[in-house]
Amino acid sequence: TETRENLTYEKFGRAVRELAQTIADDGYEPDVVLSIARGGVFVAGGLAYALDCKNIHLVNVEFYTGVGTTLAMPVMLAPVPNVIDFSNKKVLIADDVADTGKTLKLVRDFCIDHVAEVRSAVIYEKPQSLVKCEYVWKRTDDWINFPWSVEQPVVRRSGQVLDA
Ligand code: 5GP
Repeated sequence: TETRENLTYEKFGRAVRELAQTIADDGYEPDVVLSIARGGVFVAGGLAYALDCKNIHLVNVEFYTGVGTTLAMPVMLAPVPNVIDFSNKKVLIADDVADTGKTLKLVRDFCIDHVAEVRSAVIYEKPQSLVKCEYVWKRTDDWINFPWSVEQPVVRRSGQVLDA
């Protein structure tokens, strides 16, 4: 039986504060936090508050279709952020996990020639990741259950009478 890393919302709250402290201690002061939706949005929100950065952007990347099953390559979905807006800006890319690292590499390569500096922060990094993130909370080889995606979407209860 394979082991799972189980992140709860409570543990995530501590993780994101610790990750932010590591970034602050390193002296990196991002102008922009670029989140990779959807999982990276939680991380970006926590980091932006903890680092007192008021500028969050978002890029949608589609890659995983199930536990361990992926498309051939990650793809950025429209609308893609206008990285020209980030020239002279220090960017912090935020995501939940670098697994193969292909998602982070895609976003990093997309930014790198247009911005002053780009660094990456993730809650988890797996050993095979082809991008080595500057900031990692925890390294693991296990499949991770994230609190925002461990449950199925809520059931739509159709036919409810709203104004009875
Ligand atoms: P990568 O491109 O690094 O292989 O994967 C990045 C994305 O895949 C993550 O942002 C996440 O959405 C998904 N992913 C990769 N590994 C895991 C995992 O162990 N657990 C979950 N829940 N998602 C994962």
